[in-house]
Amino acid sequence: MGKPQSVLLITVDCLRADHVGFPGYGRPTTPFLNSIAQQAYVFRSAIAAGTPTYYSFPAIHASRYPTALGRDIIGIAPEEPTLATALQGAGYTTGAFLAANPYLSPHFGYAQGFQTFQDFLNPADGKTARPESRQAPGRVSSLRRFVEQSSQQTRLTSAAYGELHFWYCQWHNARETRTMDQLRCYPAADVIVDEATAWLRALPEEPFFLWLHLMDPHHPYYPPEAALAATGAGEISAPRARFLNSMWNRDVGPARVRRYLREVLSLYDASIYWVDQQISRLVHSLQELQRWDETLMLVTADHGEQFLEHGARYHSPMGLPEQLIHVPLLLRSPEFLTSKVLDGPFSLIDLAPTILESVGVETPRNFRGHSCWKQVKAGNLPDEPVITECVEACNNPFRREERMRSRLIAARDRSYKLVVNFREQKDYFYDLSNDPEESAPLRPEVLSSERARLLHAVRSHLQQIKTNDESDTRLRACLREFQQLDSAGLSSSVASTAS
Ligand SMILES: [Zn+2]
Repeated sequence: MGKPQSVLLITVDCLRADHVGFPGYGRPTTPFLNSIAQQAYVFRSAIAAGTPTYYSFPAIHASRYPTALGRDIIGIAPEEPTLATALQGAGYTTGAFLAANPYLSPHFGYAQGFQTFQDFLNPADGKTARPESRQAPGRVSSLRRFVEQSSQQTRLTSAAYGELHFWYCQWHNARETRTMDQLRCYPAADVIVDEATAWLRALPEEPFFLWLHLMDPHHPYYPPEAALAATGAGEISAPRARFLNSMWNRDVGPARVRRYLREVLSLYDASIYWVDQQISRLVHSLQELQRWDETLMLVTADHGEQFLEHGARYHSPMGLPEQLIHVPLLLRSPEFLTSKVLDGPFSLIDLAPTILESVGVETPRNFRGHSCWKQVKAGNLPDEPVITECVEACNNPFRREERMRSRLIAARDRSYKLVVNFREQKDYFYDLSNDPEESAPLRPEVLSSERARLLHAVRSHLQQIKTNDESDTRLRACLREFQQLDSAGLSSSVASTAS
């Protein structure tokens, strides 16, 4: 190998594989990435090792399953080796620009190994998330609270109040004049790319590791109007988008929101298009700076998103369906400008070691995943089961009681998938080749040897987690929690370590 390669890792929140062009989506969401795919490796079965964000990124950065240090530990442990620390140790200049995801902060250890770390979570920088304005309580809201409390006496009056209040809010919102840009809750991809480009321009000659995390396809969905037009969605005004997001977020059954699905998907797809176009801008900047020919680029996602499949919206960790765990993955190596499609399953737990081998940097010993670089170059990934794990219905990991719920584990190979629900003490087995929608699990007696193979993979996974000696790493993570939260946190964490 000649000059050391730089590494550009782009992760896109909530980007499901089947809405991306290069694996085969019909709508023009990713024209630029499609062109890159002509000289890159395309992974058709890339699977997140956990979902959502806080269960996916420990695998992406530290090549560790999310609950391997205990269900109560979220994020990267202090001093835990990561892709960034390995590359920094090898002389890379490292930088991260993340679009205000609260779970990807120094608090959760993600700044480790990055000389520049900009998470846009500080309101003082003026580019952070823009929470919707809140009115100070006045006479009208006091009256509203009184009516709301009075309506709680029966289910019927409570439902009637909820309906009336929702539509009153929509009538009120329709009069506002904010644009899509003003309504958006996270910095858009163009803001992140601008900052990253400025960082690239000031770089020394050394190889760099740049990580971007883009939030455009994360709800609420407010794509720029230009992106809507380019994806053929037609016009959706900002007030209409606000109405659609409010409706989509209502705590009502799927039948009540299904009629808005087409428009909501248009907003989601246009958000993906905007990401694609900003990646294109970034690559043009790298070309201009004469760094593109030395850059290994990867584009993937932490997890997907549901649009009423199985009745669900967004990405709550429930059931581990394909819409949540199947992510796009594109790897463009400057050494192998070839178009290759890899069909075998690939877990994102293997991503960091694969990247490190491809650029010739030693892999940290604690990494659980293995490099697949040789198999990737050969264009042939083995059909070995890959594992995804999470804690069921943990939607707010800041709440300790949610983190301690039961585990969900999925094992998936090219054709089959087994989901083990530890709360229900049940497993669900799917034939993905004949039932890609996972509409009906197979009966236990059907395909029993395939089911046994995946059950064995789940069992090996659990045994591996149990036998790994990570007590020191775990204690460091517990201590961080204690320092950041309260003394009660430490006593309970140490107690569970000892048990
Ligand atoms: Zn996420």
